[in-house]
Amino acid sequence: MQKTTKLAIFFDLDDTLYNHLVPFRDGVREVLGLTENAVNIADLFHRVRHHSDLLWPKYLQGELELEETRLLRMELAFAEFGLDLNREMAAEVQAAYIDRQYKIKLIDGVLPQLQRFISGGHTVGIITNGPEDHQMKKIRALGVDKLIPEDRIFISDAVGIAKPDPEIFAYVNRKTETTPEHCLYIGDTWGNDVVGALEAGWKVCWYNPRDRQPLTDHVPSYTFTTYDEFKELPIL
Ligand SMILES: [Mg+2]
Repeated sequence: MQKTTKLAIFFDLDDTLYNHLVPFRDGVREVLGLTENAVNIADLFHRVRHHSDLLWPKYLQGELELEETRLLRMELAFAEFGLDLNREMAAEVQAAYIDRQYKIKLIDGVLPQLQRFISGGHTVGIITNGPEDHQMKKIRALGVDKLIPEDRIFISDAVGIAKPDPEIFAYVNRKTETTPEHCLYIGDTWGNDVVGALEAGWKVCWYNPRDRQPLTDHVPSYTFTTYDEFKELPIL
């Protein structure tokens, strides 16, 4: 007998639907004129994200403005690599990075998977952390807004709850009339995506293209490193 269970499949945005490193790498190289091997750009970006995560609660609590938060994370991360950015340069790097984020492309192999789930009648959506306008612009740049209706796109600043709080997944369940046991979340970040969704009772596909190590004892339902691998997973 054919399986008829319909699933709800939600994707993370940054580093799951597109490669977040590309706009950062290209923006930094352009502004600072760095040669390819001058600095390990992936490590630098990792530190930018780290400082961003540390500073974000201050932005959310109104202690820091958004632009100040964004520049500060650049200054702190670049300083760790011996690159002292003054405020003006940090703003230039940030502007070049933002500009490129609105010209991003889907990771190879993502589009057929979105189409496969949508044509199969499954509920498909996005859950992403960040400012509403900024995240929506990236979703539009990817063309994903043409595939996924707006009421299935959940952005933390709009919802008022952010990953890894399991409450955001519970909120999505209520809004989409889905149940945790039929929900699958696909994301790249251990704490926010894997832990958050598992704690909400969802199944989780961990996208791990950079060979990161688990940070807790949680066990993702599936792990994949490319969308070629993903399409072979027995998730349906
Ligand atoms: Mg991500």
